[in-house]
Amino acid sequence: EFDVLIIGGGPAGAAAAIYAARKGVKTGVVTEKFGGQVLDTLGIENFISVKETEGPKLVAALEQHVKEYDIDVMNLQRAKGLKKLDDGKVEVELENGAKLSSKTIILSTGARWREMNVPGEAEYRNKGVAYCPHCDGPLYKGKRVAVIGGGNSGVEAAIDLAGIVKEVTLFEFDTKLKADAVLQKKLYSLPNVKVILNALTTEVNGNGTKVYGLSYKDRATDETKQVELEGIFVQIGLLPNTDWLKGTLELSKHGEIVVDHKGHTSMEGVFAAGDCTTAPYKQIIIAMGEGANASLAAFDHLIRQ
Ligand code: FAD
Repeated sequence: EFDVLIIGGGPAGAAAAIYAARKGVKTGVVTEKFGGQVLDTLGIENFISVKETEGPKLVAALEQHVKEYDIDVMNLQRAKGLKKLDDGKVEVELENGAKLSSKTIILSTGARWREMNVPGEAEYRNKGVAYCPHCDGPLYKGKRVAVIGGGNSGVEAAIDLAGIVKEVTLFEFDTKLKADAVLQKKLYSLPNVKVILNALTTEVNGNGTKVYGLSYKDRATDETKQVELEGIFVQIGLLPNTDWLKGTLELSKHGEIVVDHKGHTSMEGVFAAGDCTTAPYKQIIIAMGEGANASLAAFDHLIRQ
């Protein structure tokens, strides 16, 4: 039995665990894989005070920091259910059948980017295919890039990138953009942005080491065309890892766990932090801050019991 049980061991979960353990309360972490999305990241240049690092290196540092404390890390375990018990504690059921109970829970199961699912996408991930303009935009300074997706995040990304790169081509599957009118107006005012509507992206073209183009089908004519470029930012959605919580907690229409400014969820004693929540802007430094925030809120809850 735990005082604070954290589900998900990415940056949010690691920060939550350290903050909890430093209060001297019994802390556990259940995670499918320690490190989360950071494990899949190549260069990181926006983790403030660390000029430059790599995902696996940052994960190793996180792991080492967590190991400094008495934290029960249950790696390679997946939670599948959450239930409030009669005594006020919360029970988490794991996929292996084990049941753990805790006075408080912090959910930090993160998210994953929706992929185009076209040939070349996986092969050129981090070699021209990117998902985060805040992270990787500066790497494409002076180059030509595509943004896939004409919703708010795609159009925001295109506007953002237009200030850094040479040329942005935005691809939208539909015959019109879905982004807010004010964003569209801004987008169309930029001289180095081109918009291609009614386009189904079909392949990432590369030379084995890097991307040189993108193929798409013009849905009006069924013709396949190719655009030459060096980078592709996929902005067709971020999927929170919260399927297992449907019907248990309040989720937003995008599946994010609804939290307040202290990380409280709709279930008493259950907190959430990081990319799986409604907190805006999905970044490592933000996830860590949210993890610390939720952990302090969980401690606040414990001392009032
Ligand atoms: P995650 O990192 O997603 O961790 C969640 C963890 O929970 C994972 O280990 C997952 O396996 C586990 N989990 C999920 N479901 C369950 C379950 N049911 N039971 C148990 N465990 C579960 N951000 C930056 O600030 N700078 C960058 O340069 C940067 N580059 C990026 C590059 C890439 C390719 C990607 C994908 C992301 C990048 N990001 C970057 C974003 C950053 O990685 C995330 O914002 C951050 O990792 C979110 O942390 P988190 O702890 O909320 O979630």
